[in-house]
Amino acid sequence: MIQNPSVYIIGAGAGGLAAARFLEANGYSATVLEAEKKIGGRLQTDVIEGYALDHGFQVLLTAYPAVNKYVDLPSLNLVCFQPGAVIFSGGRQSVLGDPLRQPSMLLKTLLSPAASVKDKFLVYRLTRQLKAKTLDAIFAAPEISTLEYLRAYGFSPVIIEKFFMPFFTGIYLEDKLSTSSRMFEFIYKMFSLGKAALPANGMHEVAQALAGPLKKTEIRTNTRVVKIERDNKRIHLENGEIINADYIILATNSDKLLSGYHSEAISWKKCTTLYFKAAQPVSNRQLIGLIPDPDAIINTLSYALRVDTREDNEVMLSVTVVKEHALADEELTEKVRQELMEHCGFNNTRLVKLYHIPKALPDLKNVSYRPKNVTASDGIFLAGDTLANGSLNAALLSGEDAAKALIKYHSSIAVQ
Ligand SMILES: Cc1cc2nc3c(=O)[nH]c(=O)nc-3n(C[C@H](O)[C@H](O)[C@H](O)COP(=O)(O)OP(=O)(O)OC[C@H]3O[C@@H](n4cnc5c(N)ncnc54)[C@H](O)[C@@H]3O)c2cc1C
Repeated sequence: MIQNPSVYIIGAGAGGLAAARFLEANGYSATVLEAEKKIGGRLQTDVIEGYALDHGFQVLLTAYPAVNKYVDLPSLNLVCFQPGAVIFSGGRQSVLGDPLRQPSMLLKTLLSPAASVKDKFLVYRLTRQLKAKTLDAIFAAPEISTLEYLRAYGFSPVIIEKFFMPFFTGIYLEDKLSTSSRMFEFIYKMFSLGKAALPANGMHEVAQALAGPLKKTEIRTNTRVVKIERDNKRIHLENGEIINADYIILATNSDKLLSGYHSEAISWKKCTTLYFKAAQPVSNRQLIGLIPDPDAIINTLSYALRVDTREDNEVMLSVTVVKEHALADEELTEKVRQELMEHCGFNNTRLVKLYHIPKALPDLKNVSYRPKNVTASDGIFLAGDTLANGSLNAALLSGEDAAKALIKYHSSIAVQ
């Protein structure tokens, strides 16, 4: 048996970093090869004009089991969203809160025109049921689309159109709610059990928190892998370097690098996030805003967090567009500015930054909680959210499972 096997992890996203953490915790050390100049993969943040601008709006759900295992949440100085959402409709705002989690929202929720009394009861019942339902039971349930699930549960077309549709469009990054009902139950449960939050310095901090405890792992950024020879585990880098590895964890969400290995092609859900400066907030709280109007292009809005300690009289809006459109960036920006004025009352907004995210979430059928298979071939393992479901939780678990499979394989060679 090789005493200190050379282990290479390709990709320093959440999956690759979790694999490195699990390996270190079990006495192995790896080298991580990352193509980009920064670690984190889809967890990226720029600081512009004193604000943390994430590459695409995403939230950290504090109830994710794998996040609690691998991320020191207090170190992130989390800023939590209020439960529920602000719905901008017909020039008016209404607040749909989660009365179970935050009793102060009860009155606003009951007054919200977005939901009928029956809907509010169903929200209450669903929350109780899903809090009690195990993750195993959720991921073993038959899959239907989220839209079919909501209808079958008895929700009215009004709450589906005004709340569930825009809220889950923002989460799934698709506007038909065709995403699996398993994913709906999982995400709903996570929202009910914990908080939706942002690290004070943006989502990239999650990647930093994952990498922080690594002591024996080398991370090489700006190091793109162009090919892996499957039979002899030779890694070819873009710069011409060739590395001989004993074991490889491919955590890139692309098995195209692996010669002779083919799996089903993944299609991706995309979004565009635009950041605008605006004179003042429409609410002083960190709420998720939704525009349910079917003609509106904006889906979700919130406030980006200020990292600069100096006072700023303005706010930084984060606006996410999910709908398909053929608008050039200037036209899109203009349409979004118009809608911010008409629906939400933000006048004189100024575009600061626009991010197109072409590969935000994998579009998966038959989602699972953990990957079903992480072994590509002898000594080569796979990680990434594409193997289970499009979430940070799944990415972390995939890294853990790939590392576990590697250790098991290595130990099995020892006893042969
Ligand atoms: C806009 C947006 C919104 C989201 N919202 C949420 C949310 O609200 N909740 C949630 O749970 N999840 C959300 N997610 C998903 C979550 O961010 C991902 O599931 C998770 O970050 C994926 O991690 P990963 O390691 O699987 O993949 P990635 O982060 O994609 O990591 C893959 C890494 O491999 C590297 N790589 C690729 N090719 C090569 C190569 N040839 N050589 C070397 N390195 C390579 C990449 O640069 C990257 O660093 C969102 C994502 C986006 C983008």
